[in-house]
Amino acid sequence: MPDTAVALTSAPLQATEHFDVLIVGAGISGIGGAYHLNQQCPGTSYAILETQESFGGTWLTHKYPGIRSDSDLYTFGYRFKPWTGKPIATAEEIRTYMQEVIDENDIGQHIRYRHRIDRARWSARDSRWTVEGVRTDTGEPFCLSTGFLWMCQGYYRHSEGYTPEWPGMADFKGRIVHPQTWPKDLDVTGKKVVVIGSGATAATVVPAIAEKVEHVTMLQRSPTYFIPARNANDLADQLRTLEVDETWIHEIVRRRILHDQAVFTKRSFEEPEKVREELLGGVKAYLGPDYDIAKHFTPSYRPWRQRIAFVPDGDLFRGIRAGKASVVTDEIERFTAKGILLKSGKELEADVIVTATGFHLNVLGDIQFEIDGKPLDFSQTVTYRGMMFTGVPNMAWVFGYFRASWTLRADLVGDFVCRLLKHMKDKQARKVEVALRPEDKDMPLLPWIDTENFNPGYLTRGLHLLPKRGDKREWQHTQDYWREKNEIPAIDLDDKAFVYN
Ligand SMILES: Cc1cc2nc3c(=O)[nH]c(=O)nc-3n(C[C@H](O)[C@H](O)[C@H](O)COP(=O)(O)OP(=O)(O)OC[C@H]3O[C@@H](n4cnc5c(N)ncnc54)[C@H](O)[C@@H]3O)c2cc1C
Repeated sequence: MPDTAVALTSAPLQATEHFDVLIVGAGISGIGGAYHLNQQCPGTSYAILETQESFGGTWLTHKYPGIRSDSDLYTFGYRFKPWTGKPIATAEEIRTYMQEVIDENDIGQHIRYRHRIDRARWSARDSRWTVEGVRTDTGEPFCLSTGFLWMCQGYYRHSEGYTPEWPGMADFKGRIVHPQTWPKDLDVTGKKVVVIGSGATAATVVPAIAEKVEHVTMLQRSPTYFIPARNANDLADQLRTLEVDETWIHEIVRRRILHDQAVFTKRSFEEPEKVREELLGGVKAYLGPDYDIAKHFTPSYRPWRQRIAFVPDGDLFRGIRAGKASVVTDEIERFTAKGILLKSGKELEADVIVTATGFHLNVLGDIQFEIDGKPLDFSQTVTYRGMMFTGVPNMAWVFGYFRASWTLRADLVGDFVCRLLKHMKDKQARKVEVALRPEDKDMPLLPWIDTENFNPGYLTRGLHLLPKRGDKREWQHTQDYWREKNEIPAIDLDDKAFVYN
């Protein structure tokens, strides 16, 4: 919980303003949510509350060298706003795109920056949430009320990344930095750098600094799958040559990419060995026959169990081939004054150690929730399609996809929330919550996600904090865009799972 959070024991404040909807977070999901409200529920009063000083969320927080998307922007972009740049985009390009969405749709007037929500209380008597927080610039408390909370706060804590505790860290004489809080004054020119980790972040930082450092080592405990490919989309380029309208190009290229991804995902389950060989073949093509691919780039898990990082133009591998970057697959015994002592007995010298070791899972924005005076424990709720939670009124959460672009789901949830708000209006209902139906009562309750299928560290570390899932599709976040794109729009809002009053 943030240091300056309002303690639960403090006296409740009085709301000074009321909004039909409050959106938490001005990242890609929150800005998308505002667009959908404008389009589908005109006349709805809303505000977006954002802790940081500007919009962008992930793309504002992360400032490490090379910061870029690892999925293509045709699908990571919104369905309603054509993407016209290269498929893999820098954080700055993504923010420019978001700025255009904000300007073109007059969303800026609704955003309140430097407003961190610490506490939200539901009152059944008033059928509303009271939201309290602190203005991070002045330290002043604020208090607003709303009929509906649209949670677009992402899934990890923005204030700091996750760094494991290794023995001897205090002995290290150089600098230890986490990519999520990359210091402005850090200059790695001519330095020896060790990057711990092998996910998308490590694979981005390593090539981004390779040219200026003396040497950069990517230290991994175990290898990851990578897809090296040209940062271009041939179909989009062809359609542009034919002067096809950008709106059409966006839609056609999205469909092509989503089709190809569906085929790839299916094959990863049905013929994992073949897919593995293809992925390794891509790496081999860059590193040549003499490189020890078996040791450094052959994961023990089957493809798609963790997100597969895209390496645009093979830049990571080009750095390795040029001798400026190298990969060490080993385990850390301890930190030393000069660097890192490995379990193999080898010592890696470093001036700077970058811990690309992931995130702290953040359940619903580190906000303390209360329902009619009782603290809410999300782990005791059951999720309705990863969007709503049993016993939690008037709230939806945008939790995107891991195997497909996050924003595909932000758009689907956007349509769902707008449909739900209109339905409530038609029914003159002030409250909606989901509840298990009689036929669901004996349903086994399982952890939020099946870790056999997807198991990144931040999720497995925080699984006990997340809502439960059932064994029916309605009560799961299935991570399956290809079925949800039809299922979510078809949800019957008068199903017994929705309780109104
Ligand atoms: C480095 C990195 C690269 C990624 N690349 C991709 C990619 O290529 N493709 C992909 O699909 N996914 C990617 N992801 C996942 C990514 O986080 C999501 O795709 C997406 O950006 C999440 O958007 P969001 O708006 O839901 O949440 P976020 O981007 O996390 O934004 C949430 C916002 O909510 C604010 N907030 C949180 N709590 C509060 C509170 N209590 N009060 C007020 N404001 C609050 C935060 O300050 C933040 O600005 C990446 C993640 C990281 C970290």
